[in-house]
Amino acid sequence: AIFENLSERLQAAFKRLRGKGKVTEEDVSEVMREIRVALLEADVSYKVVKDFIKKVKERAVGQEVLASLTPAQQVIKIVHEELIELLGGIQSRLTTAPKPPTVIMLVGLQGAGKTTSAGKLANLLRKQGKKPLLVAADIYRPAAVKQLQVLGEQLQIPVFAMGTSVSAVNIAKGALEYAASHGRDMVIIDTAGRLHINEELMQELQDIKAAIKPHEILLVVDAMTGQTAVEVAETFNAQLGIDGVIMTKLDGDAKGGAALSVRAVTGKPIKFAGMGEKLDALEPFYPDRLASRILGMGDVLSLIEKAQAAFDQAEAEKLQEKMRKAEFTLEDFLNQMQQMKKLGPLENILSMLPGIGGKELKELQKQINPKEMARVEAIILSMTPQERAKPEIIDSSRKKRIARGSGTRVQDVNKLLEQFKQAKAMMKQFAQLEKKMKKKGGIK
Ligand code: GDP
Repeated sequence: AIFENLSERLQAAFKRLRGKGKVTEEDVSEVMREIRVALLEADVSYKVVKDFIKKVKERAVGQEVLASLTPAQQVIKIVHEELIELLGGIQSRLTTAPKPPTVIMLVGLQGAGKTTSAGKLANLLRKQGKKPLLVAADIYRPAAVKQLQVLGEQLQIPVFAMGTSVSAVNIAKGALEYAASHGRDMVIIDTAGRLHINEELMQELQDIKAAIKPHEILLVVDAMTGQTAVEVAETFNAQLGIDGVIMTKLDGDAKGGAALSVRAVTGKPIKFAGMGEKLDALEPFYPDRLASRILGMGDVLSLIEKAQAAFDQAEAEKLQEKMRKAEFTLEDFLNQMQQMKKLGPLENILSMLPGIGGKELKELQKQINPKEMARVEAIILSMTPQERAKPEIIDSSRKKRIARGSGTRVQDVNKLLEQFKQAKAMMKQFAQLEKKMKKKGGIK
């Protein structure tokens, strides 16, 4: 999974602090040492690691004391914030032209995922209501033109091509005219790639840039190539000037070094992340969400988004309101378990929740299987409305009655009540986190 190794190492480092009422300087030093090793092993640039550790240490030592957090949480909070910063701070959006079309030039080495990303980006922009035009400007490989045309057909998005005997500059110019006369407001140019950076390639890209003055030059790099990706970004930025990065293959990147270094090294943000081979697997890059994920706080925001897409919107809002006010009842719990089934493979959802690792995941999966859900349903249905609303009133004689009524055992009823308590605590955490993130401007 994405950044798995790094995530595991960091979480292990923080385990040290858990449950400590007081964190000594020594504790912090030890944790920082482990984080340092974790980052280096993740293939983050040496200098980036050094600066990162220095910043966190300074803040951790001279920190303002927040009453609401334990010292350990405080350290985690600082690391979290610095990780967000490292990943680029706030989300970097595409620049759009004051007058359409917006012209986006994709550049990068062969195999990085440039052509695929062109298709994915067009697809994403169309979902946002734009009218993209794909442009095949890689004139050295006929296969590249064909590949883009196939993608365009699959997506039903027009592809502008002039074969391989016209210069890339003229193709790009022709594409702009075509876009203007056909009402396409986003032009995505797939340029030539090479196996290695060479002068000829750079010259051609500079020529295209000079001729059409793109609003965005996005460099496509492969996350799996680690520090090489960062070096490629440095060179492209120095020689051509880039506005941002599309980091591909993050789905298979257990380390995370490239994603964590590229912004600090080049000063240019990651704008999109490739998360798979499919044409919908390109996402805007959210530093805050990724940082939370790396630290095992779970990608709460994605979860909420997913949940909202699956749930009936009004229903979801009601539920969130209840969570906020901690009015969540067993009735809602039942409802929610049933809704969870709609969210797709449970594993995906649960792995996004904060503080749920492999072991807890397995346990939860056991609990939320269809047979178990049927049992839970039966138990809740055997409760009176008052009991569902206020489970505290369920004493042992009520438990016996409920067990009898649902054909289960008292221990099953106990187990459910315990699960419910945990779920409720988790909901509360969500609500608080969500509130915090909203305040920080993380949710748009
Ligand atoms: P180009 O030479 O830069 O145009 O690269 P392509 O677009 O042809 O992509 C090269 C390979 O990488 C193809 O097999 C793609 O399916 C794959 N690929 C591209 N982006 C991603 C991604 O985000 N995740 C994964 N897993 N594979 C990707």
